[in-house]
Amino acid sequence: MSRIGTSLRRQSENYHMIIHALCGIVCAYITLDYYPAISHIRLNIMGVLGSLFPDVDHLMYWFWYGKRSEYSLIVKSFLRRRQFRNFYKFIKINHKALSGLYFHNFISLFVAFLLFIYYGLFRGHPLLMVFFMSWSLHYIFDLCEDILFFKRLNPNWYLRFNKFTRDFHYVD
Ligand SMILES: [Zn+2]
Repeated sequence: MSRIGTSLRRQSENYHMIIHALCGIVCAYITLDYYPAISHIRLNIMGVLGSLFPDVDHLMYWFWYGKRSEYSLIVKSFLRRRQFRNFYKFIKINHKALSGLYFHNFISLFVAFLLFIYYGLFRGHPLLMVFFMSWSLHYIFDLCEDILFFKRLNPNWYLRFNKFTRDFHYVD
């Protein structure tokens, strides 16, 4: 398992956002089964938007509620110095170590899932159905990644924020 685990962790680290986006496309194709007449392009766009949108939480962390944390200060210093490669490398390696993301929690997952059920089953609204399906799947993928990387869930899922700090890996 450990060699497979290491390889999965590496792939997940390298392709994290691409996997999120692909999950959105999978959601679009699931929705198409129920609403075959709807435009594929619009469904795919909503699927990808829904799967990326929850990570606006990272932006809010850097610039608002976690702006004074060590992590955010490092991120912003790379941005200020226009060191975009280092910025990308740093968040790629370290974003899993964050346990302070307020909106990555089980309540957000529950709300997104309820909205998916509401728009999918009760309102018959395919675009919002795919949007919230992708949004829910985003959290589910992040949860699986926590297990893959740490063999346990980060405490932010249980609304326990910044309960510990994992060591950050520096890039330069
Ligand atoms: Zn996320």
